[in-house]
Amino acid sequence: MEKLLLCTGNQGKVLELKALLPKGIEPLSLADVGLPADLPETGATLEANALQKARFAHERTGLVCVADDTGLEVDALAGAPGVHSARYAGDAKVPMLNMAKLLEELRGKEDRRARFRTVIALVASTGSHTFSGSVEGEITEELLGSGGFGYDPVFRPMGSELTFAQMDGSAKNGISHRGIAVRQLVAYLRALPR
Ligand code: IMP
Repeated sequence: MEKLLLCTGNQGKVLELKALLPKGIEPLSLADVGLPADLPETGATLEANALQKARFAHERTGLVCVADDTGLEVDALAGAPGVHSARYAGDAKVPMLNMAKLLEELRGKEDRRARFRTVIALVASTGSHTFSGSVEGEITEELLGSGGFGYDPVFRPMGSELTFAQMDGSAKNGISHRGIAVRQLVAYLRALPR
């Protein structure tokens, strides 16, 4: 069984990543290897942050490491909060406050188009790779649903009547930014020589 260190302390991400990984891969958490839940992410892009987190963990453990960095890009806000999505309403990273700030910024605005973008970095002793996924949608006028995590209650993917928070986990993973990126990661892992 191949060990894969999931470099995130976000339990919402962990659940989604685990559901997408095939049997034969043993996912480890940061706690399993004694690393803190919050790894440094000081880059200016999702790519830089994903690579920074995965490299940090790989250098300390030697394990194959996977890190996810995700941003919500809102057209009417010129792409904000983007790479700053986690701390949009402050360093405490509180999803409710982030969503309240977002709804306030968009109050009265007709253009509510947005997208989630995820970059997943894989860092191993053989090198590093990134995989990305995005999903177009819109920001709702109010919080809808109680599933998922983060901004899910205010994001409705294009073509759906439900927000991510109103879907079950497998429906979200089937169309989400993260699902798209992880399926590329899995295809890459499967093609590696053993
Ligand atoms: P980070 O990738 O951990 O920096 O997360 C960026 C921000 O986006 C955090 O506030 C997360 O809670 C949020 N986030 C990440 N992925 C998702 C998602 O799939 N749905 C909703 N919010 C997300």
